[in-house]
Amino acid sequence: MKLLYLGTAAAEGIPGVFCSCSICRTAREKKGKDIRTRSQALVDGKILFDFPPDTYAHYIASGFTDFDLPAIRRLFITHSHQDHFYLQDLHLRKPIFTHPPIEILHIYGNQRVEQKLLNLQEKEQVIPYCEFHYAKPFEPIDAEGYRITPFPALHDQQEECLFYAVEHEGKSLLYAHDTGVFPDSVWDYIAKINQRFDLVSLDCTTIMDKDGGNHMGISDDIDVRERLVSIGGADKKTIFVLNHFSHNGRLNHDELCRIAVKEGFTAAYDGMTIEV
Ligand SMILES: [Zn+2]
Ligand SMILES: [Zn+2]
Ligand SMILES: [Zn+2]
Repeated sequence: MKLLYLGTAAAEGIPGVFCSCSICRTAREKKGKDIRTRSQALVDGKILFDFPPDTYAHYIASGFTDFDLPAIRRLFITHSHQDHFYLQDLHLRKPIFTHPPIEILHIYGNQRVEQKLLNLQEKEQVIPYCEFHYAKPFEPIDAEGYRITPFPALHDQQEECLFYAVEHEGKSLLYAHDTGVFPDSVWDYIAKINQRFDLVSLDCTTIMDKDGGNHMGISDDIDVRERLVSIGGADKKTIFVLNHFSHNGRLNHDELCRIAVKEGFTAAYDGMTIEV
């Protein structure tokens, strides 16, 4: 499987939409890997994770090859926060904006995501082209030859936030954003089914600061990796990637890479691909 990181920032982006802190100022000067758009990832060009406001920019930046947005049929939403589910652009699936032939976009998510879809302006013109499916924690979903399992995240308590495991042809990856340290039910499930991951992408929003209750920083990621290895969910061959960064984590890309490598992690950047 090939995981393409289309965007790697938290909600505000780097540089932040309205921010002039030193991290954002440096990003504006250096550009390149210091520029981070809101988080979104794609597995093998088919399974899309999240729909941030930068989805259209990702589509343009991809050169229309790696990310063929009109052809995407499966969209898995982690939760309804604006940086993961930017509803307004789904409105553009209505016929005046999108000429046929257009196929159904299957959207998987929690009940808050469904509610937002049902509240969409002119929804009767959009709904025929989007089919919602409730993603229930620990109930695997088969789509396009992939098995996707939703896990409950430790994030906004106002909704059932999710993160996802993907299995395909004997390989497996875990895409864990946004979440704090995994709830006990997740650890129990991974241990019970003997799941081992080839690739683990961990939330690292707070980078230098410990969190664990809503997001994670590098020290939380070290703890999660240790626990995952201890229950057989990962081993020496597993690739661990850090992703979903905030300027409040206080590191630009080069400094982040230096610390990440020292701790045995890969720091994601916009456009990075990892293959397992
Ligand atoms: Zn987020
Ligand atoms: Zn900033
Ligand atoms: Zn969030």
